Amino acid sequence: MMEHMKAVAKGHADYINRVSVQILETGRYGRIFTRAEGRYLWDSHARKYLDMVGAFGAATIGHNHPSVVHALREYLGAAQCHICHFGLIESPVQLAERLAELVPPPLKISLFSSSGAEAVDAAMKLARAATGRKKFVYCDGGYHGTNLGTLSVMGVDRLRKPFEPLLPDCTAIPYGDIGALEAALSGSDCAAFIVEPIQAEAGVVLPPDGYLREALQVCRRCGTLLILDEVQTGLGRTGRMFGMQWDEVVPDILLLAKGLSGGIAPIGVTLTSESLFRAAYGNPETHDLHGSTFGGNGFSAAAALASLAVIDAERLVENSDRVGNYCLQGLRRRLSGHPLVKDIRGRGLLIGVELSDGKRVPNRSPTSAQRLSPAGIYCQWLCLRMLEQGIVCQTASLHWNILKLTPPLGVQESEIDVFLSVLEGVVREDDDMGKVCRKFAKRMSASDMHTW
Ligand code: PMP
Repeated sequence: MMEHMKAVAKGHADYINRVSVQILETGRYGRIFTRAEGRYLWDSHARKYLDMVGAFGAATIGHNHPSVVHALREYLGAAQCHICHFGLIESPVQLAERLAELVPPPLKISLFSSSGAEAVDAAMKLARAATGRKKFVYCDGGYHGTNLGTLSVMGVDRLRKPFEPLLPDCTAIPYGDIGALEAALSGSDCAAFIVEPIQAEAGVVLPPDGYLREALQVCRRCGTLLILDEVQTGLGRTGRMFGMQWDEVVPDILLLAKGLSGGIAPIGVTLTSESLFRAAYGNPETHDLHGSTFGGNGFSAAAALASLAVIDAERLVENSDRVGNYCLQGLRRRLSGHPLVKDIRGRGLLIGVELSDGKRVPNRSPTSAQRLSPAGIYCQWLCLRMLEQGIVCQTASLHWNILKLTPPLGVQESEIDVFLSVLEGVVREDDDMGKVCRKFAKRMSASDMHTW
């Protein structure tokens, strides 16, 4: 087994990405996870871990949920037409009907794709085609995927810069700033404003109360569409079925992906109203302007239908709200006031713990240097120490100084207690940030694929 796993690590380094393997080794994720069930993962040494990352928010219903596995076995057993663009297949239609029941009107029509980024791209094209306008406004710190189109509205310089020039006429504004939005849309020539209800990858950044409601009003006044990217916040993550419910808004275009198929099959969906869809793609010349081979495939749709049923049957949205609050309170009770802890925030089971080295906190547009700030390295160290004690957690991808929690939504209070005790123990034991950074740097320079 050991030899086999070494070969996997070497194969990944040789044929996929060497630096990723080295970084994983440094963080001593020099573990290969070979089994995933419910809220737990197992590595190749059969060690068990509580999963507080949940496939970066995709494993909302837990890993390999038996209902989804059963549904997919049945689906495959029936030997159906999996992809059939010259005919019609049933499961995507059932999924679109179910989604139309879940979302508020006038949202109704589903454009299916295979990832979050594809759902964003589809939204941008839809907005241009429906409005005849070209411009987009987006927020600093916003994460919308790494395709060329989505990078154009990505508020993260490090991810954009190497690929410029991107789409012209895309303007960034500060997240949560209504005045800036008004100014950016004032020409009444902008196709859409794209925004996350909570900026997840930026480190669980919550906007001021009522922000989305006011943003929608500004968009309406200027004839601009509102695109809500709920790839991460949707489907129960924030303690509501959709993050938009916290502000009681209905956007023109709503995006879902990640957890929609239970983290098993690639899927994304761009939901919109009949009228906008008609304006964009409503005649024989335009009806097929957007599409892809796997978009709307039967297997992913079957997985999504089964996953949505689990979210309902197990009351995962309510659980996310209740256990999320429990976790937030526990974190605050145990860690508030600690000199390294700057902020603890979140909604439902989307929670961030921001650490600080006491110096100026990085801004929301990170470079690699900021990711490797002392607080960023310290936070990676925390994750490593927790891993050693049977808990998987990770930092926000854009700000390593923020621990970002997105566990499966069925996580229980007793599991949160275990997580909190381990986290508190590690923070209290290793609270010399300078010392930890030196240790980590030494490890990083020694990393050479030998701990696998
Ligand atoms: N939008 C948001 C809000 C996301 O968090 C992500 C992924 N982290 C994406 C879009 C892109 O999704 P994908 O990785 O499936 O392309």
